[in-house]
Amino acid sequence: MADEPAVMPTYGRYPLTLVRGEGMRVYDEFGREYLDFAGGLGTMPLGHSHPGWLEAVYKQSDLLTMVSNLFFTHPQAELAARIAGAMDMGETQVFFGNSGAEANEAALKIVRKWGLPQGRTKIVALEGSFHGRTIATLAATGQPAKREKFEPLLDWFEFVPPEDAGALDGAIGEDAAAVLVEPVMGEGGVIPLSDEFLRAAREISESRGVLLVCDEVQSGIGRCGAWRASSLAGVTPDIATFAKGLGGGLPIGAAVARRELAFAAGEHASTFGGGPLVSAAALAVLSAIEEEHLLENAAVLGERIMGELRIGLEGQPLVSEVRGRGLMIGIDLLSPAAKEVVLALIDKGVLSTEASSNVVRLTPPLIVGEPDADTAIDAVVAAIAKVSEEVAG
Ligand code: PLP
Repeated sequence: MADEPAVMPTYGRYPLTLVRGEGMRVYDEFGREYLDFAGGLGTMPLGHSHPGWLEAVYKQSDLLTMVSNLFFTHPQAELAARIAGAMDMGETQVFFGNSGAEANEAALKIVRKWGLPQGRTKIVALEGSFHGRTIATLAATGQPAKREKFEPLLDWFEFVPPEDAGALDGAIGEDAAAVLVEPVMGEGGVIPLSDEFLRAAREISESRGVLLVCDEVQSGIGRCGAWRASSLAGVTPDIATFAKGLGGGLPIGAAVARRELAFAAGEHASTFGGGPLVSAAALAVLSAIEEEHLLENAAVLGERIMGELRIGLEGQPLVSEVRGRGLMIGIDLLSPAAKEVVLALIDKGVLSTEASSNVVRLTPPLIVGEPDADTAIDAVVAAIAKVSEEVAG
């Protein structure tokens, strides 16, 4: 394992040092191969070393890497137009940052700018949600354990339980500016919000005159079988945020807002946001998703994986539920044994992640094919059987 005494131990790492990747696979320092169903925490829609992505990155880094946002660059302009078109949210404009948290910060600032002159300062968010680790996005996160050590934080947020449209409606007072939801709650345990609840959130926001913000940092860019998961429920938010998959492994985040809500000159900024290199990489991601029909693949393979897992895990006493949307899949356990399952899967040559202590998460590249899906399904069933025996015994 890499010796890293100089690194702040913010992450509990799995016992592997990875050195190389290709397609659906990564390799450790001893040359051992792993099927990558962690997918860089959902950041690798094209898998590793995708030829189209590599070519775009090589070409652009040779041509122009970075000049700051004080100058026009073609890749950013083209990327913004492509994202605005793909997200199909009406007339929109895009702000680029470098991460999910930064995309959400931009969204929160847009909400603030819109609401403040009307005395609308509160944002209704969901219990169990996750929106990032910066001060504002942490305040928006409905997980007290993550906030606790840093409180008091911003008091803009009120939390209501997911799936409770009545509570959501009740929390929207005269001072409310926005409703903030993740269409599939990722870090909270891969919990898809129902179409009915998402539609209710849209209708309530509209009737009460507040904005609807969808955090699609994890669920967007094809992960759930559509460019944005909210569209699967027929819901169009006023603002949506994207990050993880967008750069195909390079850091980029985007806040997409209705044109009339957009920042004006001087109201927001990010030095690196949407630079030529990362924008060219993101364009290659969007092109490959289209050309290789990866939205369809995510939808079809996701259903297949979840269906097969439900069959393979039927009667398994450790498992309460298999759920998700597209290739954002969670296996909910009845005890907090997700880490043990992830470790058992590493032994079997498959990478996955935890989304809370009792949910094992699969976020493979969107290029995954049936043979790799079947290998992963068999490994998950076997790993859970092993951990289940250990828990019981
Ligand atoms: N929003 C959601 C829904 C996320 O899942 C995440 C990260 O997991 C974030 C925001 C924060 O993104 P980042 O870690 O890129 O800042």
